[in-house]
Amino acid sequence: MLTEILENIFWLGHDGFMIKADGKIVTIDPYQVETVEPADILLITHAHYDHCSPKDIEKLQKDSTVIVTEPESAGQLSGDIRVMKPGEALAVAGTKIEAVAAYNTNKTFHPKEKNWLGFVVTLGGSRIYHAGDTDLIDEMEGLNVDIALLPVSGTYVMTAQEAVEAAKRIKPKIAIPMHYDSLVGSEADAHAFAKGLEGICEVRLINRC
Ligand code: ZN
Ligand code: ZN
Repeated sequence: MLTEILENIFWLGHDGFMIKADGKIVTIDPYQVETVEPADILLITHAHYDHCSPKDIEKLQKDSTVIVTEPESAGQLSGDIRVMKPGEALAVAGTKIEAVAAYNTNKTFHPKEKNWLGFVVTLGGSRIYHAGDTDLIDEMEGLNVDIALLPVSGTYVMTAQEAVEAAKRIKPKIAIPMHYDSLVGSEADAHAFAKGLEGICEVRLINRC
């Protein structure tokens, strides 16, 4: 089950992922995408331009696409949009989506008051967590997820070391680093993350597509 879903998670670069499961395509935070496969569900974590990119979102939108996001991003987009707050859950065409808090604790780029988002989406029987732009926060405790996509670049989000601590707290079966090799962060951060979790949690680096 987990093996199958892992084969169907594609990294679009930065925080962007495309997941193919249950006969649909769920795409998260597409930014400067090269692969254009229309999404059934688009999850947008927050209003920063490298996460909520109307130009990229438009490319992946079809008439039936449902966008799930927070109010500030919703204001920049059009189509079938569902707005969420941290702690809420909803189902879109049978796919369960939970909104999780995402915010900074030792910097100011992502204030808690903004109510920006991470997501837990259940696909192919696995719970997949996309953390959004965040530091290590209490809300990560008890998420009970199989796969965790965690930012590792530092600057606006967790450093690789902080992300290691987050993974220890979340205890996913598989951790996948993101938010590097684009605007901030490098492959070295992803490798530091993997090294820090050796013997603790399996880490997969996903090839960009
Ligand atoms: Zn951000
Ligand atoms: Zn970011």
